[in-house]
Amino acid sequence: MHKVYLGLGSNMGDKKDYLDQAVSLLKENKGIDKVEVSSYYATDPVGYLDQDTFLNIVCYLETSLSPEALLKVCQDIEKELNRVRLIRWGPRTIDVDILLYDHMHIETEDLIVPHKEMTNRAFVLLPLMELNQDLIIHGIKLEEYVKQLPPQGVRKQ
Ligand code: ATP
Ligand code: MG
Ligand code: MG
Repeated sequence: MHKVYLGLGSNMGDKKDYLDQAVSLLKENKGIDKVEVSSYYATDPVGYLDQDTFLNIVCYLETSLSPEALLKVCQDIEKELNRVRLIRWGPRTIDVDILLYDHMHIETEDLIVPHKEMTNRAFVLLPLMELNQDLIIHGIKLEEYVKQLPPQGVRKQ
């Protein structure tokens, strides 16, 4: 079984419901065994600022799926929950990103793991800390990244 962390975010409609539906779809997947979920974190938007606050969670999974197969599952969940995205970094019903997959480093056209922005994002690092404080990313402890974060308007719910 592979140990995987996913980052999920929503900033349209009933955000908590979109996150919960995405978690249910992950739990239903035959290739996914265990699913643990962090608290919800409310986050002010980054990039494109003229949009609603985000709600974010991180999930821990144990899965037999390959990284590519898991990416497909994430994208199918986004499709199923009617993700619409007209503007880059703009509003969306749901975003499901692969943060970490075992200790693998992947760099293909479709998939970069560890997720390339995760170490700069409080809305990823804080829920991740809740699930596993001992993670090491690019040889550096998770808590070291957290210490270096600038204030980012992330509030645990
Ligand atoms: P960000 O990557 O900054 O969080 P985003 O999640 O909004 O932005 P998307 O539109 O969801 O970006 O994804 C764009 C592309 O990113 C996808 O088509 C996917 O192939 C690619 N991608 C690369 N690495 C990953 C990853 N670790 N998890 C999910 N998608 C990834
Ligand atoms: Mg994303
Ligand atoms: Mg994404």
